[in-house]
Amino acid sequence: MITLPPALQQLAAALGKLPGIGRKTATRLAFHILNAAPQEGEELARAIMKVKADIRLCPRCFNFTEDELCLICGDDRRNQKVICVVEDSQNILLLEKTNEYKGLYHVLGGIISPLDGIGPEELHIKELLQRLEGVEEVIIALNPSTEGEATTIYLSRLIKPQGVKITRLARGIPLGGSLEFVDELTLGKALQTRSEI
Ligand SMILES: [Zn+2]
Repeated sequence: MITLPPALQQLAAALGKLPGIGRKTATRLAFHILNAAPQEGEELARAIMKVKADIRLCPRCFNFTEDELCLICGDDRRNQKVICVVEDSQNILLLEKTNEYKGLYHVLGGIISPLDGIGPEELHIKELLQRLEGVEEVIIALNPSTEGEATTIYLSRLIKPQGVKITRLARGIPLGGSLEFVDELTLGKALQTRSEI
């Protein structure tokens, strides 16, 4: 059996850890990088290092940022009285694409999932509660999975006593589904027709 040189094997193994990349594709990509012009490989390596070195979490909403505050928290034209709670930063991108929302966000960094050992303390819930002064509405935009539902109920129980209106995305997002697979129009509509909980 012919084996690849160790360096190439290592690259293929690293690429194979990426989501959606199987062993075959990983090997093909590794060969592509090997055969590409030197600067192409360097560019890729530099971009990866830069992302890891320069991007950190916004201290207010936990979105990714290269600056002190993220682009959304730093934009005072956005409605400071509404916070939309999402599971991760990728969901911010999805909601921004709908062009329906002009408020702020709060990234939980996951959802409550006892089976995976993720309790409320592992998420940015405490920091959310500390941001509620002057806030009129919190929109909970979590995936409609069992864990997403449980987290939504947990959050609403904590936030409601503070006199803040809590809404959630309208139905129309398939139950058990993921926001990632909902088209922009449906997601925008779900945001528009959100309901109070
Ligand atoms: Zn932010």
